[in-house]
Amino acid sequence: MANKVLVIGSGVAGLSAACELAALDIDVEIVEQSDFPGGHAIQYTCKATDTCVKCGACMVEEKLDRVVNHPKIKVMTGTRVQDVSKSDDFSLKLVKKPLFIDPEKCTNCGVCFEKCPEKGAVVKGFSRNHSPFYAISEDKCLYLKDRSCTICQEACPEKAIDLNVPEEAKSTRADAVILATGFTPFNPVSKPYGYGEFRNVVTNLELERMLRTDGRVLKPSTGTEAENIAFIQCVGSRDAKLNHLWCSKVCCGSALRMAGLVKARQPGTQLTFFYMDVQTFGRDFDVFYAKVRKDVRLIRAIPGDIYPVAGDRLQVTFLDNVSSETMQEEFDLVVLSVGMTPCRGLQETAETLQVQLAETGFAEKDGQGTPASEKGVFLAGAVTGPMSIPESIASAGNTAFEVVKYLGV
Ligand SMILES: Cc1cc2nc3c(=O)[nH]c(=O)nc-3n(C[C@H](O)[C@H](O)[C@H](O)COP(=O)(O)OP(=O)(O)OC[C@H]3O[C@@H](n4cnc5c(N)ncnc54)[C@H](O)[C@@H]3O)c2cc1C
Repeated sequence: MANKVLVIGSGVAGLSAACELAALDIDVEIVEQSDFPGGHAIQYTCKATDTCVKCGACMVEEKLDRVVNHPKIKVMTGTRVQDVSKSDDFSLKLVKKPLFIDPEKCTNCGVCFEKCPEKGAVVKGFSRNHSPFYAISEDKCLYLKDRSCTICQEACPEKAIDLNVPEEAKSTRADAVILATGFTPFNPVSKPYGYGEFRNVVTNLELERMLRTDGRVLKPSTGTEAENIAFIQCVGSRDAKLNHLWCSKVCCGSALRMAGLVKARQPGTQLTFFYMDVQTFGRDFDVFYAKVRKDVRLIRAIPGDIYPVAGDRLQVTFLDNVSSETMQEEFDLVVLSVGMTPCRGLQETAETLQVQLAETGFAEKDGQGTPASEKGVFLAGAVTGPMSIPESIASAGNTAFEVVKYLGV
């Protein structure tokens, strides 16, 4: 029987591992719990201005394009592993949630999105490789809540929508499993920054999505361009109170690259960056940093709190590092650079696959006892801790190599 590898998670790490293995003629199945493949990084915008700033966003699109068009790779979205047993190979029970839109019939015309009366009930994908480009949110859809609306189903010209599709149980086998479930962004509701309460406080991920879809930075409250933006770094990272002592590594670079892009597209915008210290990871980042810091006002302080004030503005309070005085400044929009935390549900998946977790809660490659890899379970990407896109790709390459050795291909 041909070798088959099951990859859990279709972020850039899962996609990269799949590409490497498929190139060696190994069959790969990718199980992805969300509606769209590509993980977090498929939502990021290219941050090139006059030159490429090496953000890595295009690498993810390139991997996804290869995966969806590869005859040896099958991607199952909306799917989770429910149970695993191992004898010579792995037997896996999968649960596929209903996706409601038939990819064979959908032409991506967008009528469902336009006609849906409930905001967020029909969601758009991020990439031209997301097919279908639309999905129905189980949390928001009115039909799934109380059977009160079937507008999208009736409006679809291709009859591609069926809101009564049931959940499906499936089973599959694999010779090895790669756990590439990535990270969960820190949820900043517990911080005194009014996230979820003040519309013009957004996360860095929301800003990425806004730049990717609208190309500009708009105030959510009015839809007009933001003219004075504050970035607050290290939200949920390097935080002893939360016992999150790790640096998320990518947030400084990502926020500064976004700031550079905003300045290029909306030159009148004032940008302020509240930080602890700037982590300049990666080759060439210092050169970029020297260039971008002319456009950004850097304040070495982590703000205490944020309040809404007159004129649809937000007042940020911070301790000035130079004068040691408490200062207050007003902004149109505040961007919280939330860090990377262990993937939600990782503990359960790790138990099922007998993978060890470190004290941080991220998966541990070389913990005590027999490494999971000896039993055919491998780790790739940010499931093991914060890392950038190029690092995730490199990690997946190493993992694919270990899998090949394990399979004896
Ligand atoms: C705000 C922000 C900005 C960033 N910007 C940059 C940047 O500009 N450049 C850069 O190099 N890096 C950046 N990064 C880092 C980048 O996001 C990561 O390097 C990359 O996403 C890691 O890929 P991954 O595949 O390991 O994980 P993820 O992208 O998290 O993908 C994991 C996938 O696994 C799926 N999954 C999780 N659990 C399960 C399960 N049980 N079953 C099935 N599927 C599951 C998830 O739905 C997801 O699709 C940024 C990070 C953040 C937080």
